[in-house]
Amino acid sequence: MFYGAAGSGLELLVIAVVALVVIGPKELPGTLRTIAFWVRKARSMAREFQSGFEELTREAELEGSPLIRSKYPLLFDTASVIAHPQVRNMATVAGNLAHGDPANDHPATMLALGAQVVATSAAGERMIPIEEFFLSLLTTALKPGEILTEIRIPIPPQGSGGAYFKLERKVGDFATAAVAVQLTVDDKGACQKVGIGLPNVGMTPVKAAKAEAFHSGKKLDDAAIRQAAQLAADEADPTSDLRGPAEYKKGLVKELTQRALTRALERARK
Ligand SMILES: Cc1cc2nc3c(=O)[nH]c(=O)nc-3n(C[C@H](O)[C@H](O)[C@H](O)COP(=O)(O)OP(=O)(O)OC[C@H]3O[C@@H](n4cnc5c(N)ncnc54)[C@H](O)[C@@H]3O)c2cc1C
Repeated sequence: MFYGAAGSGLELLVIAVVALVVIGPKELPGTLRTIAFWVRKARSMAREFQSGFEELTREAELEGSPLIRSKYPLLFDTASVIAHPQVRNMATVAGNLAHGDPANDHPATMLALGAQVVATSAAGERMIPIEEFFLSLLTTALKPGEILTEIRIPIPPQGSGGAYFKLERKVGDFATAAVAVQLTVDDKGACQKVGIGLPNVGMTPVKAAKAEAFHSGKKLDDAAIRQAAQLAADEADPTSDLRGPAEYKKGLVKELTQRALTRALERARK
């Protein structure tokens, strides 16, 4: 956990790299370690509750981070397709989650990553698994007086890869459909773990739990990927709107899930 005196995104990155090198992911199987995403705005918001909050991370910082690019390609992919550069220079990752908009990209990505968020108030801190964070449209589990101060993401073990595929009408738009995938395979190619998140196809971001469960222990060949993609499409519940009819969006979810699983697998094998 990177609480403390770090005062800039660069310092946080240095701490994150040192933590990865010194502690090492192998010594910490199953243990959550923090890539702290401090959102700048929380410093002023938090002052009345507690001092010492760090700057908060903006989308552009993720895009520019070699650590994120190499260790968390799913996060890198996601940040790169949010809105456009002017927005990414200002928008924070925590704000993207705290807004509770299912059309946002990070909620689905955090579902795929199995993140936890830390809610802080004058009364202290509590950790919320991301699966319990999005309650309904634009409504999260944050209580009055709480702000989101940290996002914790498990360190991906060896054999992990992730990818985000998004179709948008034009650059800067929210997703017509998109898919976030994070997976881990063993040395025989069998799937140990997979997370699949879908934005903008429901009142909250959707965790494609049936598609995830289908993969468990299976070798990810083309047939398995196709079948899982169909399951993910079945779990999507989009509405027809200016971005297209619901059936079209379901078809997109199927296609993008296939692509994201394939890309994540390629990255896991590297
Ligand atoms: C033109 C445009 C296009 C966009 N396109 C996309 C897109 O394609 N994909 C996408 O994912 N997003 C998109 N967004 C959303 C954008 O990426 C940001 O997530 C959003 O604007 C929130 O920005 P912010 O971090 O400044 O939060 P704010 O706008 O300051 O806050 C948003 C809400 O969250 C609350 N909040 C913020 N931070 C915290 C915190 N730490 N704790 C508790 N509550 C908090 C605020 O009170 C407010 O209610 C777009 C935005 C714009 C303006």
